[in-house]
Order: sequence, then C-alpha cells, then structure tokens
Amino acid sequence: MRAKSARGWMAIVLPLLTSLTLLLMILALPFVRRGVAAELEGRWYWQTENEGIEESAWHSFDFPHTPPVNSEDDKVWLKTLLPAELPHDASLLIQTRDQAFELWLDNECIYKYGELKPAFMSYGQRWHIVKLPIDGGGKELRIHAYSASAHSLGYFGKVWLDSDVDQVLRIFRQDVPYVMNIPLAGFMLVMILIYATSPAAPKRLYKSFIAFMTVFLVWMVCATNSKQYVLDAPVFWRFLMQTAEYLLPLLANLVIFQVVDTGYKRIVRGTVFIYILLLLGAILTELLGFNGMSRGQVAFYVLLPVLEGIALYAIWRSAHQGNMYARAVSVPLVFMAGAGTIDGISLYGHKVVMEGYMLPYTTLSLCVFVVFIVRHQIKRERNLMTRNTGLQQEVSQAMEKATRDNLTKCYNRNKLEEVLTEEIFRHQREEEPFSLIMLDIDFFKQVNDTFGHEVGDEVLAGFAQVVRDHIKKKDLFVRWGGEEFIILFQHCTGDEAVMIAERLRVQVSMAKIHERCNITCSIGVASWHGVTDSATQLLKRVDDALYTAKRTGRNRVCREPQNNMHWFKTLYNEESE
Ligand code: GH3
Ligand code: MG
Ligand code: MG
Repeated sequence: MRAKSARGWMAIVLPLLTSLTLLLMILALPFVRRGVAAELEGRWYWQTENEGIEESAWHSFDFPHTPPVNSEDDKVWLKTLLPAELPHDASLLIQTRDQAFELWLDNECIYKYGELKPAFMSYGQRWHIVKLPIDGGGKELRIHAYSASAHSLGYFGKVWLDSDVDQVLRIFRQDVPYVMNIPLAGFMLVMILIYATSPAAPKRLYKSFIAFMTVFLVWMVCATNSKQYVLDAPVFWRFLMQTAEYLLPLLANLVIFQVVDTGYKRIVRGTVFIYILLLLGAILTELLGFNGMSRGQVAFYVLLPVLEGIALYAIWRSAHQGNMYARAVSVPLVFMAGAGTIDGISLYGHKVVMEGYMLPYTTLSLCVFVVFIVRHQIKRERNLMTRNTGLQQEVSQAMEKATRDNLTKCYNRNKLEEVLTEEIFRHQREEEPFSLIMLDIDFFKQVNDTFGHEVGDEVLAGFAQVVRDHIKKKDLFVRWGGEEFIILFQHCTGDEAVMIAERLRVQVSMAKIHERCNITCSIGVASWHGVTDSATQLLKRVDDALYTAKRTGRNRVCREPQNNMHWFKTLYNEESE
C-alpha cells in the first residue's frame, strides 16, 4: 500500500523535475556559446621555445584547439594578427589554467603573468583583462606561455577581444548559472542538515549526501569568475576545484551505495574504491611535483562515464525490484554524470564546445532526491509518533492501575503519599489550608461473619460508591487498608471538613448499601497545621480522631483536639466551635 502511494507520487514528480532540468539546460544554451570571439578566429601559428623564434619555424594550427606540442615541451609561442579595426577601449579577456604567460604586441611585452618557469602547484586558474593600445589594430599578437604539463601548454581556448566594459559584463554573465544554482543547492543542504538531526533520519545516507552537497557547493563557488574579486588566489582555487571534481562522483557513489539493494552494494563499493585510488594517486603525484591533479584528470574523465554507468546499472536493478530510493536517485545521477562527462570532454579534453560548465544546470535534478528523502522521513516520523502515542496510553493506563484499588475503585496508599507531598509543597507556597478525614465502617467484622466474605466485599464497594457520590471529583478518595478510607480535601479548613464528614456519615447511615444489611461509619477529622507539621503527624492525628469516634460510641464524627492549634486559628481566623 505504502509502496503504491510512493510510486504514484514518483510518477508525477520524477517526470516534472526531469523535464524542468532539461528545460533549464536548453535555456542555458545561449550562455554556453563557443568560447572565442569571431575577431580572433584568424590564422594562428605556433612554435616551441627550444627552436628559438625562427620565422621559418611557425606552424599553423586550428585555434582554439591545442597546438600539437611534444610531451617534453614546457614553453610555446603562439601568434596571430589582431584585426585592423579594434573596438573602442579594446581589451583581451583571457582565462588560463596551469599556465604562466607573456603577451607581446609586435616586439613589446604588454602583460605578464607568472615567471615562465616551474612553480609549486603550478599557476592555478585565473582570468586576465589586458588593455590593448589604441594603435594596436593590425599588429601581431604573440603569446609566450609556460606550463609544467604538456596537456595544458598552449591551450588558450578562452580568449575574447572586446571593449573593456563588455569584458567585465562577460565575466559576470558567465556567473549567471551559479547565481541561480548556488542558493538552490545551499537551501537543499540546509534543509537536509535540519532533517539530519531527527532521530528518525537514516544517518549514513544523510552524512554521505551532506558531504556530496557541500562539495558540490564548493565546486560551484570555485567555478565562478567573481570569486577572483573576493580572493585572488589562483592556485588555491585551482587545487580546491580539482579536488572537488575528484570527490564529487566519489561521494555521489557513496550515496548510491547507501541506497542500492544489498546484492549490488559490492559493485558500487568497487567504483568508490577506484575513485579513492584516483584521488590519492593524483594528490600524491601533485605533491611530488608531477602535476598529478591535472594529468590524472585525463584518466578521470575517461573512467567517469564507465564507473557511473556501473552505478546506474546497480540503481536500475534495485529500482526494478521496487527500491524507491534507487528510483529517486537515478534522475540526478543521469543528469550529473552526463553533464560532468560533457564538461570533461569540453574543458579538459580541450574540445571547446562551450564557454562554461553544464554541471550547475543539473542542480534542480537533485531536488527529486531531496524531496523524496524528506518525504520518506516525514512518513517514518509519523509512524514513530503513532507508536509513541499508543505507548503513552499504555503507560498511563498501567500507572492508573498501579494507583487504584480493584474492589472499591478508590486510589491506594501510593497515590495518597504522592498527593499529600504535593499538597504540603503547595501549602508552603500558597498557605492554603487542607484537611484529611478517615472513615471506618462500624462492626464490619460482623457483616463478614454473618453474611460471608462475598457480601462483605459488596458492602465495601457499595460504601465507597455512596461516599464517592457525595464528594467532588477533585477530592482524593483513598482506600487506606481493609475497610478504612481517607479523603483529602484541598482548600478546606477543619470546620469545613467536619461539615462534609458529618454529611457523609448521615448519607452512609441512610443509604441502602446492601439488601441484607445496613451499615454506619465513624469518621476522624484533622487539618494541616503549617510549617511545624508533618505528613506522619497529620495521619496520626486523623487516626486518633477516628479512634475517639469509635470509643465514644461509633456512627459519629470526631475532630482532632483543638488545644494545639492557636497559631493556625489566628492564621485562618477560625473561631473554636
Ligand atoms: P469497628 O467498628 O471497631 O471498626 O469494628 P470492625 O468490626 O469494623 O473492626 P475492624 O475495623 O478492626 O475490622 C476490620 C475487618 O474488615 C477485618 C476484616 O475481616 C475486614 N476486611 C478487611 N478488608 C476486607 C475486604 O477486603 N473484604 C472483606 N469482605 N472484608 C475485609
Ligand atoms: Mg471497622
Ligand atoms: Mg477497621
């Protein structure tokens, strides 16, 4: 039944969010244009440094693709002609990764970034705006670049020639997908963090998912251009972004590991293991100075579709067997792995397909999974609450049973002790009077002896009922033992208690409690004396008063002696009767 309703829900939300994500990605197309302004698509030439600059050594290449440098090369020259007509306030916007470079206009160096020699952790990721001189039109533009990795060397796939203002606008325009998606991802992360505190949360799944969302957010921040205005630390951002890229599929598969059926956990664990090896290998070779982070990315982007294909198989099999979590996680997996692979080919494979990344547009697809796990948790909490309410009822019933007497339905001694303590505390705060009366059936032994124990029981129950009918609900009616009862009256002075006791005595004597016999009772009355009093003394006084009633003839009410109550009388203005 539950599986059926979850399936019905999925039938609506899955296609809805899937089509929304697709729509977003299509809408994004205007932003993901080719990364080169048409003005620079003239002929480009290259030559490596070791040949020295020889006019005969220039080879043409298909810009913006990488010139075919040898793997041992670390310096390269590129050249092209600037258009004869430059835009007003012309400048170049260049985005670099792992390269240091100089920009030459004819024979003059107009910009320099880095030192054209090895540097610890390479040169990171950064954009540069280079102002061109007014008379730059038609001049020869040369780029002299250095990179420790031949894979990056000479790759200037993202160069734009435009006016100053347009370059700044371009920087911010490229950040639009992040401005849209960072708050959405952040909101989902906060939501999951809140839900993770619930005792009903599946902790391991939440931990993996929180880790994934955090890294995804970090990656998106690294991918923005604007971060450079806040912190211009290219190496730091580059390292952070690359680490996030290695971690993202690793953590995604850790989430998938929690979700798939037991039979498929092994293969997903295998993919996680491979990602861990890749990351460790990349970091280690980076620290050893072999540019492992960048070089490892080639292997990484080849493995990504393969490993995610395997994870998708595990998910698909689990979903086939009715695993709803698996079904919900399949949507973000397909979108994110797909977008990640396209980004990898485009940006790391140096096949320039577009300006930015595809991955941020898939944030919305994560909603499918977030909504699903939150909804599932609410269901689980509701079940827990229902069970909890049932338990609470059982507990209060058991408590009631433990404090009540079966035969007379009166409370027992335990309850009196509890309420008496509370009442004494209350008196200390509010100085409100309270009183006890103790009732004992006269000659009850004779009833038992004459009519039998069973009739005795019926008389006892009948007596309790008559008394109950003539007191208030809030008065605590207790079976003290045998055929002795105590009633505690709150906010009640001794005088008032005497009056009530007298009324009860008359009612009992007149009532037809049993067809075979009539009974009477004797009653003792005592009140709380204040700070110098104690529960034991009070019980003793009321018992003594009852004894006096018995001794002086039975079927009567007797009050505790009044000679020791001076201060109490002045406090409550009671006149002795
Ligand atoms: P008195 O007027 O002095 O109170 O005389 P009494 O006969 O009532 O004397 P007492 O209070 O000492 O007797 C209590 C008797 O109550 C003794 C016992 O057999 C009887 N009794 C106590 N509990 C029960 C009970 O649960 N059921 C029945 N049927 N009898 C009980
Ligand atoms: Mg008795
Ligand atoms: Mg008795």
